Amino acid sequence: MSLRRFMINSSCLCDGYAVLEGEVFNHIVRVLRLGPGESLQLADEKGAVHSGVIDQVTKKSVRITLLSSQAAVESHSAAPRITICQALPKGDRIDLILQKCTELGAHDFWLFGGRRSVAKVREEQQTAKLDRWNRITSEAARQCGRNDIPQVSWRPNALDAASAAGQQLRLILWEDEREKSLKQTLSAHEKPASVIVAIGPEGGFDPLEVKHFSQNGFQPVSLGSRILRTETAGIAIMAVMQYIWDGM
Ligand code: SAM
Repeated sequence: MSLRRFMINSSCLCDGYAVLEGEVFNHIVRVLRLGPGESLQLADEKGAVHSGVIDQVTKKSVRITLLSSQAAVESHSAAPRITICQALPKGDRIDLILQKCTELGAHDFWLFGGRRSVAKVREEQQTAKLDRWNRITSEAARQCGRNDIPQVSWRPNALDAASAAGQQLRLILWEDEREKSLKQTLSAHEKPASVIVAIGPEGGFDPLEVKHFSQNGFQPVSLGSRILRTETAGIAIMAVMQYIWDGM
């Protein structure tokens, strides 16, 4: 039977052992009821995997003696690094997007305030929101057995997001695009090293945003005549790209 694996931050590692507190402690000790003498694996955010044995449990922490560590291995699949550049949707739809696109292999997420986004992020809310969103990707990565955790970052608007993009292939899913389909666009490209895909909020993209993305090398593409919900669009594009470029 394979060992249970837990996602940790490398700051918990020190001189041959790891001390875990908080959520991961709860999960190991309270939920799974693992105790001294039991073996497990810890995967850190850099992709390294550490094998060890629990040697001490206190009320708030669990200490693990590390027996071996394996540095991150380069992915064999050489799949492109896919960035989902998502305008903030209403309510908790973003949770679903982060969770499902993490399962489908998104490399990272750039969330931005769209001109038509109903939901807003005030400056003083940013840190708490980012913590929450990063916890969602961390939990989703743990559940699907990924070693790496997709990072979530925040850009205030479309121009900030568009002008920061350096990915090899840049796409904007635009509901008003009539000429170029996703199929035509992807079949015209060799497998890129990195891709970024911009997705609008419920109200869609404002023409000025489409202009910003286009001026920064994003190609507008259509997903067909049906208008998908914003959360469906991200999940759909991830599934399509993984099917084409990864071992789905
Ligand atoms: N309110 C807009 C409308 O009625 O035309 C629809 C916006 S749609 C719900 C949200 C986002 O999903 C869009 O901005 C786009 O990024 C993406 N999207 C949904 N359906 C699409 C399609 N058929 N082609 C391209 N993008 C699509």
